Amino acid sequence: MILSLVVPCYNEEAVLPVTIRRLIALLENLIKSGLLSENSHVLLVDDGSRDSTWKIIQAASVESSLINGIKLSRNRGHQNALLAGLLDAKGEAVISVDADLQDDLGAIEKMILLYKKGDDIVYGVRKNRETDTFFKRLTAEGYYKLLGRFGVEVVFNHADYRLMSRRTIEALRGFSEVNLFLRGILPQLGFRTSVVYYDRAERFAGESKYPLGKMMALAWQGVTSFSTFPLRVITILGLLISLGSLGITLWAIYIRLFSELAVPGWTSTVVPIYLLGGIQLLCIGIIGEYLAKIYLETKRRPHFFIEERAQSSATARSILTENSRKVGGE
Ligand code: UDP
Ligand code: MG
Repeated sequence: MILSLVVPCYNEEAVLPVTIRRLIALLENLIKSGLLSENSHVLLVDDGSRDSTWKIIQAASVESSLINGIKLSRNRGHQNALLAGLLDAKGEAVISVDADLQDDLGAIEKMILLYKKGDDIVYGVRKNRETDTFFKRLTAEGYYKLLGRFGVEVVFNHADYRLMSRRTIEALRGFSEVNLFLRGILPQLGFRTSVVYYDRAERFAGESKYPLGKMMALAWQGVTSFSTFPLRVITILGLLISLGSLGITLWAIYIRLFSELAVPGWTSTVVPIYLLGGIQLLCIGIIGEYLAKIYLETKRRPHFFIEERAQSSATARSILTENSRKVGGE
């Protein structure tokens, strides 16, 4: 079995030399043990780095036949760099892993074994978030739960450390969306999946390429690329406020007609404010509902993927067509 290890790298000169050495050692071991074919390799994707990342990749590819690299024309962000690597990799199965090797490489062998048992996607899932700051843990876990509420399927505590089979990569190719949130797309592919648990270490050198801003952008991407729930909220709010304002209208009219409390001009000011507010929000909500439909249409996501075929032999097939012709003729 030929494995491609895809590694997105953005300004990773501090970790790359060590990372490359470790990955080579890992591959050599797996090849020696007969689990992988000799054509297995690492595919390093330089995501438009401004430091010496690409030079290191070039040098490594000359030195070792196990190392390949591609360089993107400019920085396109982690998700795009990852996609570039996945779609360019030639392996029969592809495992994506971060350049800082925070994710325990020991999980790779388990992933391969599960793949050999017939799983198409093997998700690496973190056992716990002990190495994260309190803030990161709180926001990340809260976020995954929120996504679930919004109806977005994601694997809890799974980032982008996973194995994908050739046919899931080909299925992924069919998703032409610009706003990429791979974690959300993969569960939509279907196919047989399984999970491997691992410990996540801290970055051993260099600093995180995911500052808070980028992290929030990715999180928002996850919501807006997969859920039209926020638009639905407007409709619901509009409905509630319209109903409430109807009550207030009736009340204001009652006060005007049957009590001495009403100040002149009060009813005609208060009623339209509530009523119009509610109706406007409701209308925006309805527009939102259509917008949601257009949005889903423009994604042009594939409708299905065939997992297996039960193919009959040629003679059996001709009998079947013969029969169906008879049925059709009657
Ligand atoms: N990365 C990338 N392009 C970017 C930002 C990050 O290819 O614009 C890569 C980075 O080199 C690393 C991976 O994405 O291999 C994850 O980044 P990092 O480890 O900094 O994120 P963290 O682990 O802190 O969330
Ligand atoms: Mg990291």
